[in-house]
Amino acid sequence: MNRRKALKQIGLGLSAGIALPPFLTSCKDDNLAPEINYDGTIAIIGAGAAGLYAADILRSKGVNVIVLEADKQMGGRIRSLRNQNDIDFQSDADFPVELGAEITYGSDSIFGRIIQNYNLPVVDLNLVAEDQYILDSVVKNSTDWGGDSDFVAVQNFISGLPNYSGGSATIDAAATGLTSRAKALLNSQVGNFYGSSNTRLGAVGISEELSLQSLGNQRLMVKSNPLQDVLLSRFSNVKPLVQLETQVKSIDYQSEPAIITDQNGNQIEANKIIITVPLSILKNNVIDFSPALPATKLSSASKFGMDKCIRVILDFKKNFWGEASAVIWGGNTALQILNPGVGRSQFIRTMTLTIYGSKADELSAMGDDMITPILSELDSIYDGQATLYIRRDLDSNEVVYHYTDWSMNEFIQGGISYPLVNATQADRNVLAEPVNDILFFAGEATDVEGYAGTIQGAMASAERVVDEVVSVITA
Ligand SMILES: Cc1cc2nc3c(=O)[nH]c(=O)nc-3n(C[C@H](O)[C@H](O)[C@H](O)COP(=O)(O)OP(=O)(O)OC[C@H]3O[C@@H](n4cnc5c(N)ncnc54)[C@H](O)[C@@H]3O)c2cc1C
Repeated sequence: MNRRKALKQIGLGLSAGIALPPFLTSCKDDNLAPEINYDGTIAIIGAGAAGLYAADILRSKGVNVIVLEADKQMGGRIRSLRNQNDIDFQSDADFPVELGAEITYGSDSIFGRIIQNYNLPVVDLNLVAEDQYILDSVVKNSTDWGGDSDFVAVQNFISGLPNYSGGSATIDAAATGLTSRAKALLNSQVGNFYGSSNTRLGAVGISEELSLQSLGNQRLMVKSNPLQDVLLSRFSNVKPLVQLETQVKSIDYQSEPAIITDQNGNQIEANKIIITVPLSILKNNVIDFSPALPATKLSSASKFGMDKCIRVILDFKKNFWGEASAVIWGGNTALQILNPGVGRSQFIRTMTLTIYGSKADELSAMGDDMITPILSELDSIYDGQATLYIRRDLDSNEVVYHYTDWSMNEFIQGGISYPLVNATQADRNVLAEPVNDILFFAGEATDVEGYAGTIQGAMASAERVVDEVVSVITA
């Protein structure tokens, strides 16, 4: 078995309760030496999917790990509404509602295998539901839109994206000849899906990512467990290693051990540091590096964006959008609507909206007033039923809803990373490169296997970064 394969099995196996061959679990036995003899300490910055998974693999190899997390909770952009005591909104839904990631792409993805190992019931959106598409406020499934030349042109553009050869351009510029109604649908299915808008998203970067992808096309929702709970249960072994409310403000890596300083001026020494913070945190210079990060890395970082991102949760007294709907694409404001109740509950009455890019800029500036254009668009598509059936406060009759503006979260500052017009896959590689064999980089933005911006990207980056660290500390 090659080393990378062995690493993956260890990483997936230990706390998921799978029976592993004894040699793979040897580090749990006090009488045996750890798999790696290393006296140093590895600090991991960030306890999202990438940080927790990297910590788990290293710990399973007997390496000293400490995880520093700025927030009061673990999970990062995997965050479930049920776990948020400070949010004054309880959804009517009797299934978990997510504030961040909600769909696991690929049953053979790393998170897909965790779900399988736990035997958690899942809903595969492709099996139990179908997507709906909006053009000019009319919503239909793909079969019913089949005769519409604009709809067909959009789907053809999307299926041709992996083979795009038109050179540096935004998706908007690359999609020549599309009508404005077609462009609105494309903006939802591509620009927004990849974390931005068509006028910002680079066609080359997306095309390169798509051609690297190899996972199955399942779209899975865990039926009754909040994703944050699944993540934290899987990585319960590393919970004691996580220091919450510890925001790293500076890293001095002129010599080993490096010195990490947090928001209170506390200093922590570490021989190697794995940085998993969101790209926005690096780009906005929240962490002061001494010496400064190499110009090549900063230049690569500048070629990726991380736009604002808004998740809106709406509960209705009736499902008027179709009980078998999966994702509804094509709105101008409600850019991506998920029907999270499908296959989960007989009371399918919740919509979750995910909005990135220029529309998220507008809505973020509106704050609570954003509900007006959202309901107005839904009313125009569904003949006034949104306003009619939205849940209202019993006393005041005010509309009840929740939104999370991820750009306002000081430790995330945006949605997901995406390639700007001049970014290539080579830039993701530079973003991921270690510096001085002391600093190592993980997190969704550093994924080099085509899954940046997803849970898979975050977790694949953890496997890659552990390989890099292990090869340095065992050299
Ligand atoms: C609204 C939304 C919907 C999404 N939907 C999906 C989906 O359906 N499917 C999917 O696969 N992906 C989805 N994603 C993407 C997915 O959530 C992310 O790619 C993934 O969770 C990122 O994990 P990460 O570990 O790279 O980063 P994060 O989860 O962001 O973890 C980084 C951690 O670093 C911490 N941190 C930041 N600064 C500091 C500091 N200075 N010191 C210490 N700690 C710090 C943060 O608090 C955070 O906990 C979605 C994302 C969003 C925002």
